[in-house]
Amino acid sequence: MFEKLKQKKQDFKKTANMVIDCQNGVVSSIFQQLPYAMVFKTTNWCWNNCAHCCESSGSLMPKKFIPESVINGYVDQAITDKKFSRQIVFTGGEITAAYKFAGRDYLSNIINHALNANCGVDIKTNAGWVNSPLATVVYSDLEDVVRKQSDESNADSIKNIIKFQVSLSLDRFHKDAMMRDFKFIEHFAHTNISGATFTVNVSSIKQDQNMFAELLNNLVDSGIRVEQLFMMDSDGNFVKNMYSLNGNIVISNSTGTLFNGGRAKDIDFAYKTPFPQFAFMAPDGVSLVAFDSLGNVTLGENSGQKISVPWSDGKNGDTLPLKTIHENLLGATKQAEQDFLNQHKKMNAYINWLRRHVVK
Ligand code: SF4
Repeated sequence: MFEKLKQKKQDFKKTANMVIDCQNGVVSSIFQQLPYAMVFKTTNWCWNNCAHCCESSGSLMPKKFIPESVINGYVDQAITDKKFSRQIVFTGGEITAAYKFAGRDYLSNIINHALNANCGVDIKTNAGWVNSPLATVVYSDLEDVVRKQSDESNADSIKNIIKFQVSLSLDRFHKDAMMRDFKFIEHFAHTNISGATFTVNVSSIKQDQNMFAELLNNLVDSGIRVEQLFMMDSDGNFVKNMYSLNGNIVISNSTGTLFNGGRAKDIDFAYKTPFPQFAFMAPDGVSLVAFDSLGNVTLGENSGQKISVPWSDGKNGDTLPLKTIHENLLGATKQAEQDFLNQHKKMNAYINWLRRHVVK
């Protein structure tokens, strides 16, 4: 009984805060002011069908990828925009399915194009292919990417950490995640690329954050030299734990919230976000503009009520200019704020009454 009342009180407070934010246009003005990162959800197809997939990706989804020319075209437009943070995420579904459905060089081409445009690149993979013949091809392509960015003249000194990251998942839902992540990391821990190294980030959900310590122990037990690095900000504050493996690769760990989008809606601890609010922001204060293979651009990746607009004109398949997409996203965000106020008419009226009579 008491718990129910407590929950009701929390829900009331949450809705009231969101109504105030919508009245003030907080979400749309944050989107307008913040720098943005671009996410390309290259496909919704995936070998896995994880129970917690926020994108509802899986083996029954279309075997369709965002064309390489579309991605490269948006990168070219974004780098002329001062608000672009020059951070790009390539994800899926499972992005390495591109070797099967989008062409042998799709993955290399989009990564190299973005790195050559001086952007930081993060690719997300479930590493489900580590025990398959595809592994040789993917490893070789990723090594080439790093080699191309390396400074060979620096070969004998400390390696340059390039702005390229591969993100792996480690949680209870990704099948065999511990084994897959270990194999991927082990390969690169034993691969010496002169003059350059890159980062592998292992991301967990809060509920499974202990799995990273187990992974580190497994790496140590296998004979890999693991050295802790400390990343500090400009004020000398400790910001991140990183580990150098055999001096060949750097790994880090991040822990995120599982949102209740897609199939994750059935997971009891998935966080419910009725309105995207700040969930469309990455922790480092950029908003996320996410393109998907179904032709939509969404503010944020996978949280709550989605604010989406198309990236194609829908008539002859031409892509819309990035500037137009931004204007349309802003318009859709303002509309979503208005819709939220309409859905919560009584709360809206009550807060307006308070504003008139109490807050002077
Ligand atoms: S969570 Fe990742 S690995 Fe699992 S179905 Fe979704 S895209 Fe595939």
